[in-house]
Amino acid sequence: MPSVGFRFGSARLPAACEPLRREVRAFLDETLAGYPAQRRAYTWTGWDATFTAKVAAHGWIGMTWPRRWGGGERSALERYVVLEEMLAAGAPVAAHWIGDRQSGPLLLRYGTDAQRDAILPRICRGEAFFCIGMSEPDSGSDLASIRTRAERSPRGWRVTGTKLWTTGAQHCEYMIALVRTTPGAERHAGLSQFLIPLRSPGITVRPIRDLAGNQHFCEVVFDDAEIPADALVGGEGNGWAQVMAELAYERSGPERYLSCHPLLTELVKAREHDADARARTAIGRQVAQLATLRTMSIAVAHLLETGEQPALEAAVVKDVGAVFEQDLPGVAQSLLDVQPCTDPSGSPVAQALGELMQNAPSFSLRGGTREILRGIIARGLGLR
Ligand SMILES: Cc1cc2nc3c(=O)[nH]c(=O)nc-3n(C[C@H](O)[C@H](O)[C@H](O)COP(=O)(O)OP(=O)(O)OC[C@H]3O[C@@H](n4cnc5c(N)ncnc54)[C@H](O)[C@@H]3O)c2cc1C
Repeated sequence: MPSVGFRFGSARLPAACEPLRREVRAFLDETLAGYPAQRRAYTWTGWDATFTAKVAAHGWIGMTWPRRWGGGERSALERYVVLEEMLAAGAPVAAHWIGDRQSGPLLLRYGTDAQRDAILPRICRGEAFFCIGMSEPDSGSDLASIRTRAERSPRGWRVTGTKLWTTGAQHCEYMIALVRTTPGAERHAGLSQFLIPLRSPGITVRPIRDLAGNQHFCEVVFDDAEIPADALVGGEGNGWAQVMAELAYERSGPERYLSCHPLLTELVKAREHDADARARTAIGRQVAQLATLRTMSIAVAHLLETGEQPALEAAVVKDVGAVFEQDLPGVAQSLLDVQPCTDPSGSPVAQALGELMQNAPSFSLRGGTREILRGIIARGLGLR
């Protein structure tokens, strides 16, 4: 059996990142002054295009991309510091999150220069917002079973089918969609990715209300939607390999263990002078887990920085991170003696708790379910 294992090492952020961290903190202190706890609880699903424009003005979108396309040519570790501070503060980053995290990097890797010229500078300026078109009504974990198809037409491509659970589609100009381009092709073969302008005729976006009453994901129906010939991203039929690379970007960031961080901050603030041993032990356990996850996540950023593919390590951070994030609201409730609520008349912490308790079950579904990630980890370790 080949030698396999995790490459977490003992990576650290260089001291040179600290001035940047202070700069981001000062920006967040000023920009989010008075921003309520319940809105901070949305963290990376909070949508605010005005906030995104301010982040862009600081050069914190597309930070690692070439200057030629509006990027900052900074390191993955500097980007990590910015993400970490934004998430820890519960900043409403959703508008630029997907473009910065995965759609832009995908276009950098597989797009044409024309696509890069047209799109990447707009992402960096906080003007072009993206959503992810992978899941469908009968295809989630088994992504290779998707049925949405694109056929060549006189003007380019004609797309038919339905995408589901598409986060933010109602606000976005573009979707990167995985669709079938070779009818009858088996599973992973015959799939391609397209850069789809969502405001085209034949495309209907319907928001879906979730358990917490929010409408953050959507159903997107393509009814013979005509899209241009140059909307194909990468090679025709190369969609499966490309989407796997995209999922590695999607799963590799600190958002997979920082979704509840503003609540942990409130918990520590509320009980920091408390002598109760039960509270100290429970908070200590949460903070120890957080510190371990952070070390692992920084190691993933180091692997990205050195050009490695950290899909296995990212799957571990996402899976362990989801367990941590799903436990935290229950721990906070037991220690804060606060009833979670969604009523605007409740205290900000009670509302943040109410929000997170209703959203936490989705943390081990979005971006790949727990069982699927554990399958990836087992395969990566040579166990299946
Ligand atoms: C908040 C949220 C946001 C989302 N945003 C997006 C988005 O922007 N774009 C997008 O494309 N999708 C999005 N999704 C969809 C998400 O990727 C899917 O929900 C997820 O991949 C699971 O697919 P499914 O819902 O079809 O469930 P299924 O695949 O039907 O899974 C149901 C259950 O069966 C288990 N299961 C399935 N296959 C196996 C197996 N082989 N072995 C063991 N267990 C298995 C799963 O783990 C799960 O517990 C989002 C989902 C959520 C909850």
